[in-house]
Amino acid sequence: MNNKYRKTVIAGNWKMNMLASGIKPYMEELKSFLPKTKSCETVICAPAVNIPTLMKLGKEAKIICGAEDVSEHDKGAFTGDISAAQLADIGVKYCIVGHSERREYYKESDFKVNAKIKQLLDKGISPIICVGESLEQREMNLTSAHINYQVRAALNGIDVNSLRKCVIAYEPIWAIGTGKTATAEQAEEVCRDIRAIIRDIYGARPARSVSILYGGSMNAKNAAELLAQPDIDGGLIGGASLKPADFATIIAATGAENE
Ligand code: PEP
Repeated sequence: MNNKYRKTVIAGNWKMNMLASGIKPYMEELKSFLPKTKSCETVICAPAVNIPTLMKLGKEAKIICGAEDVSEHDKGAFTGDISAAQLADIGVKYCIVGHSERREYYKESDFKVNAKIKQLLDKGISPIICVGESLEQREMNLTSAHINYQVRAALNGIDVNSLRKCVIAYEPIWAIGTGKTATAEQAEEVCRDIRAIIRDIYGARPARSVSILYGGSMNAKNAAELLAQPDIDGGLIGGASLKPADFATIIAATGAENE
């Protein structure tokens, strides 16, 4: 982390796991473990149906609300979709885009990911842009080429002012939900590469100020080591974000001081 130049973000990704009735007990437990942090933004990305309840009950714990997906379209006849304008309308500040589960199960292309990012930026929502290689790509030494392509495709046509609102999440697919975490060195190497790609596109100053997160089985035990890396500015956390005590431990691992 380098909080002199960029913000630290700890973002939970609840996926399709929470019922509205579970949010109150979750928040009560989270609050009992939470350090009163000032140096890390704490985000929870939740399914759209959970967001109003999360927003209300997460206020005291200073939880910022994020969505898990958005339509690539502005408005219109897209049954079931939710637009960036609709998310912004209820106060959503962040939205995950390009998660590997959506790329894999819903065949989301880099083109679609780019279109979603543009929709979000247009409505003032910060995209959390996920990139990451498969195990096969890593074993064939294609990690760097794949990340290079995904980052450039995601940021295609995005100007430097909009870049300031973007957060990138490096999520090796083989580490998501598997309990297999990238080593701190592996994660740092790719996050450093991502910063170098951004430097190449936008220059040194913007690259220095973009927050890059690591995601993939980050948990209460390994968070401190991952977060100590100079180019890892936070985490995108799936499984462990559903356990309030573990999520709070990860937040505390940002070095946030108690008030
Ligand atoms: C994720 O889905 O973004 C994720 C990182 O999941 P997990 O922490 O469970 O690996």
